[in-house]
Amino acid sequence: MSLNGRTVAVFALGGTIATATNPVTGGAVLALSGKELLKGVPALSALGVVLRVHDFCRVPSASLTLDDLNALHGEIEAELSSGTVDGVVVVQGTDTLEETAFYVDLLHRSSAPVVFTGAMRNPSLPGPDGPANLYAAVIAAAGPWLRNAGCVVVLGDKVHAARTVKKSHTTSTAAFTSPGYGPLGLVVEGQVRLHQKLPHRPALPAADGTQPTTRTVRIALHSVTIGDDGTQLDLLGQYDGLVVAALGAGHVPEWLVPRLRRLADRMPVVLSSRIAHGPVLTRTYSYPGSERDLIANGLIPSGNLDPYKARLLLHRLLATGCQGRDQITEVFAAVSGLPAESSHQPGR
Ligand code: ASP
Repeated sequence: MSLNGRTVAVFALGGTIATATNPVTGGAVLALSGKELLKGVPALSALGVVLRVHDFCRVPSASLTLDDLNALHGEIEAELSSGTVDGVVVVQGTDTLEETAFYVDLLHRSSAPVVFTGAMRNPSLPGPDGPANLYAAVIAAAGPWLRNAGCVVVLGDKVHAARTVKKSHTTSTAAFTSPGYGPLGLVVEGQVRLHQKLPHRPALPAADGTQPTTRTVRIALHSVTIGDDGTQLDLLGQYDGLVVAALGAGHVPEWLVPRLRRLADRMPVVLSSRIAHGPVLTRTYSYPGSERDLIANGLIPSGNLDPYKARLLLHRLLATGCQGRDQITEVFAAVSGLPAESSHQPGR
């Protein structure tokens, strides 16, 4: 299919893809603008896609903030409201890409796809992957295949749903995976070939008008380790919410349960797992410190959402005035694809 005349808005945020070698230190530093990035991919002009470039910022992706992402979402909306843009590409560092794509996906409602991409190899290395990733991302954003897909990630020609994607390797060009799900499809011969249904993307509850949407919200993330004595948990009382990256399918040492219960009485506490693959359980084990015990003590199961995605969803819910544990539990069940009957809290 010809993409000639289709229009894509490209937002450049920085990252490895936009680096050059500093002659003094020999290290890679941020250097390239959006226009320069696109100039480095001559094959793009043969596609005939009209590219509208925005230099949104130029930072290593570790320095992006949720305020940046709210602003990015606003600029994407503004571009799409013209009705003349078929899709959007966001070019950024890969370090936080699984989080940025997921967060913007929670906000994005337009049918036009937003395709996040970047590079694992900087331009000074042999075989940099940035140009190929950018080329594939423009194809994915310009065509009709990903309408209503929300935000996706395209690297290594694979298309991943924002809800499932993970950076699974520190350096490999095949770093991006969707554990337990696999990619949605592949960019090949100038097209996207989908081999999975597009993900179900339930809308979040509308912002509660009584709360400013910019309310400062602080969500803690605590990773449980063997012999965890709870000292760190005891320091978290001032936060607005907590995500627990528990052991295995959602387990903690039994002596942490009273501490977690006390925290769950004050703030939403979400139970996720520090394991890279798979959901937290909700109804298998019932020993002290098990998932059933924790849910009965007020923790909210994250379903298939890993701790990083769970933290972003909880942040968004609290920032928009969604405070009730039942409502938060329902949203987590819907967004993470947890069966409805698993989200109740026995004993509470
Ligand atoms: N440090 C880089 C960043 O996230 C890594 C990358 O772009 O791949 O900005």
